[in-house]
Amino acid sequence: MMFFDDDDDKIDNEMMMTWCEEHGHPNNALYLDKSKQLDQTSNNPSVSNDADDKSVSLYKRAQRKDLCKWVAERMLAANPDSPMKSAYLRMLNCCEFIHQSEDGKLTTNYCSERLCPICGAIRSAQIIESYASIIESWECEDGNDNTGCFLVTLTLPSCNAAELHDFVAKMSHRFTLCVRTVKRILGKKVEALRKIECTYNEDGTMFHPHIHAVVRGLDAANALRKQWKEKTIKAGERIKDKPQDVRKCKAGSIRELCKYLCKISCKGRFDPKALDAILCAFYGRRTLQSYGFKLPPCQAIDEDELMLDTGTRVTTNLGEEIIWRWQNKHGWLNHTTGELLTTYHRTPEFERWLKKLDAGIKANTG
Ligand SMILES: [Zn+2]
Repeated sequence: MMFFDDDDDKIDNEMMMTWCEEHGHPNNALYLDKSKQLDQTSNNPSVSNDADDKSVSLYKRAQRKDLCKWVAERMLAANPDSPMKSAYLRMLNCCEFIHQSEDGKLTTNYCSERLCPICGAIRSAQIIESYASIIESWECEDGNDNTGCFLVTLTLPSCNAAELHDFVAKMSHRFTLCVRTVKRILGKKVEALRKIECTYNEDGTMFHPHIHAVVRGLDAANALRKQWKEKTIKAGERIKDKPQDVRKCKAGSIRELCKYLCKISCKGRFDPKALDAILCAFYGRRTLQSYGFKLPPCQAIDEDELMLDTGTRVTTNLGEEIIWRWQNKHGWLNHTTGELLTTYHRTPEFERWLKKLDAGIKANTG
């Protein structure tokens, strides 16, 4: 949801989520947690998913839980005095227990933390679910090259960790000013969905916050870029021309784009200190903001509030209450019977990938 990679990154560029998507359950069924949850929380609570869906859903949840714990442990180890420490502790316990009711309903507690792969997947699915249809409707225009959706990228020069908080505040404020100016110049409202992201350099010492915005109409997109440059120069700051980019969103790619706007990723490496600096700088700040349109109240998303889902249903062991507890690398265990809730086991491939990230941490600190 908040850390973006450059497209030229070699591997792992959507570390927290895409890995799970690409190397997920053997049958490779792809869907988003939230859409499943919507199914499950709909009017008929007695309807279960079919068995395959359920096992894929739980399998993916287990894989994210495995990653979540791994990440939280490293964030805590590398940042013992961080103001975000309690967030990492909450992550450690995200989905730690799954409660199975007598009728087979599974519920759990979520941490809602930004870095959490489980909560991040749910949140990004909510965002896609809510915004994609609105943004898609912008495409349904007259087919003119100047209409439809455009992706605008705006940057400032890199900054260090101490400057990051102010840089992010400045970017957010400047973008809002640009929208106001463009609205005045064009004499019509500017419709956009804006996301602030941040990447970091090789050794995790310099940060590159930047903005991606999906904007309706080429004139508004170009005017925003122009205003961004002008206001940055006027503030006496350096600005490079090339990174300030406007490009047409490909038809049919809006959902992909929404996914892109909320993916979590790292620079092909995992740098817990740099990530901690970013999380501290973004604390309490909205990273996603809509301009010129609002979601219907029922769909409004609070980035920091994650609704608890009602979980998935199982059709086995009905008639008894069970507490499943997370068992490292092996999914959730029924301690009474020794039974596992899912078929999940950490794969050698996943293990190797985590080892590689660990080696990267050591190389950086050692
Ligand atoms: Zn979580």
